Amino acid sequence: MSNGSFFSDSGRRGGTLALVAAIVGILGWLLWDNLGQRDDNSGGTPASSLPTVSSTSSPLPAQPPPSPSATPKSDDKPLTGKVVVLDPGHNPNNRDHPSEIARSVDIGTNEKECDTTGTATESGYAEASFTLDVARRARTLLEARGATVKFTQDGDRPYGPCVDERARIGNSAHADAVVSVHADGAPAGERGFHVILPKSVRGGDADTAKIAGPSRLLGERVRSEFMEATGSEPADYIGDGSGLNVRGDLGGLNLSTVPKVFIECGNMRDSKDATELIDPKWRERAARGIAQGITDFLNR
Ligand code: ZN
Repeated sequence: MSNGSFFSDSGRRGGTLALVAAIVGILGWLLWDNLGQRDDNSGGTPASSLPTVSSTSSPLPAQPPPSPSATPKSDDKPLTGKVVVLDPGHNPNNRDHPSEIARSVDIGTNEKECDTTGTATESGYAEASFTLDVARRARTLLEARGATVKFTQDGDRPYGPCVDERARIGNSAHADAVVSVHADGAPAGERGFHVILPKSVRGGDADTAKIAGPSRLLGERVRSEFMEATGSEPADYIGDGSGLNVRGDLGGLNLSTVPKVFIECGNMRDSKDATELIDPKWRERAARGIAQGITDFLNR
């Protein structure tokens, strides 16, 4: 095609202009990408080296926002003044107090048993031991960031507390966030973790309309950070693969007046999940995920 005919009609001229614009765009993109590369590569370098890049005067327009990987984690911000309540599910001593934990308590919407023993792995590792271990690890991480951390029980009670009291401990602490730590007892072969969010319910002392929204935000952050820290998949047996499940039948959520979620860290009855749950190194990663999710929520 000769140049003469190249501009012979407006349609082709339009096409040419588009072509020129595309070439300019590609050149610009290549230049842009090269500059952006510096920022991307800085993701793995100490944060102190970042200002050198951003303070460099450039004739080009402002650079695009850094990629998520280059964004400082929100854990850089201290949690001073924030109150976190961790609720280690069940109690290792519950098994010795069957009648006490079986009594009914008022959860607003209905009656529920005070507490349960929880589940255990095939090898006998109790959920109540797991929840205490993970919660203690998360406490260490959150306190290191300046948060005030309270427990509903620290293996220091004969049983329980009952689910209504667990909720009230978070309420009276005016907690900014509460996470109840559990591991599930689903059939073997079902795997993964999920976060339980409070449904908006009303009845008796239960009224979760105000906390359902912020609890979802907390739950979504805990889900994301838990997934990143542990590499675990969302449960394949509940929540349609979202890792989230909304429930209106849990006293610990129904009676809460502060943002609160449960996390079921895995399925203790599944042999593959159990291999992780019994591993202290995996539990440290689980605690890191939970602490980071809480931190993200508090710094949002
Ligand atoms: Zn449980």
